[in-house]
Amino acid sequence: MQDSSLQEMLTKFHQAYSQITVKEDSVSFSTPDRAILEQAQGKALPLVNICPPRVKAENFFAVMEQVAGVIKKFMTDLAVETELIESALPVDPEEREKFVARVFTPGVDILSYLKTDLPPETFIFLLNHTIKPFMRQYAVNVSKYFDPEMWLKGNCPVCGGKPILSLLEKEKGRRYLYCGLCEVQWRFHRLGCPYCTSYESHFFTVEGMEKYRVYYCDQCRGYIKTVDGAKTGGSELKLFWEDINTIQLDVLAMREGYINQQTCPQEPEK
Ligand SMILES: [Zn+2]
Ligand SMILES: [Zn+2]
Repeated sequence: MQDSSLQEMLTKFHQAYSQITVKEDSVSFSTPDRAILEQAQGKALPLVNICPPRVKAENFFAVMEQVAGVIKKFMTDLAVETELIESALPVDPEEREKFVARVFTPGVDILSYLKTDLPPETFIFLLNHTIKPFMRQYAVNVSKYFDPEMWLKGNCPVCGGKPILSLLEKEKGRRYLYCGLCEVQWRFHRLGCPYCTSYESHFFTVEGMEKYRVYYCDQCRGYIKTVDGAKTGGSELKLFWEDINTIQLDVLAMREGYINQQTCPQEPEK
């Protein structure tokens, strides 16, 4: 697929997808223990491990149906596989509760739980896009339990995921990382790779897209698209769209042999 038609398809998909939201009370959690919260910072333990989100099965499956509908409409190549996945999902209410509890438990392999051969990439795509609105709401609901200015880790304080984008603040030159799943922003060191221990920083820019820098790391081969706050002209940033609208930069970075760490669960080989 051409870069431009890929970009167009993704934009249409996300315009429809971003309309899918959940209610504030659709995600609950147990009040976290203060002592554990205090240790969380030192251990880089995200909130999802301390007070995991609880979501009702009926709400989850209703959102999944909407997401599947948007995929089938705008990503027609995935329509058949999406149908197949939908037909393999549990129907029994008790089974559904178990399924959803597993989805929100860190480290559980949900694909093997289904015991059916399903196309893994499409399954994960559908699942991640169903989880996302709940995680975004969860992040709002737990916001008083973490300080985005103090976290300073390479993983998200809420879900533990790797950042998808970073932002260089204009005034004080601070750097923030952004989680593509729960849409949380947190402060990170100005220099260095968020995916490994390297303190080196190299970046490239693309003519006509001076608002962005792509930082890359030769130690872990990771890259992170970065919005240069000094070049945004003061307009309000929607990082969700900044990511979607810069697929071209991902394509360029990957052509150079760099890896999208956010979608790559394996640790790089040493
Ligand atoms: Zn997150
Ligand atoms: Zn690195």
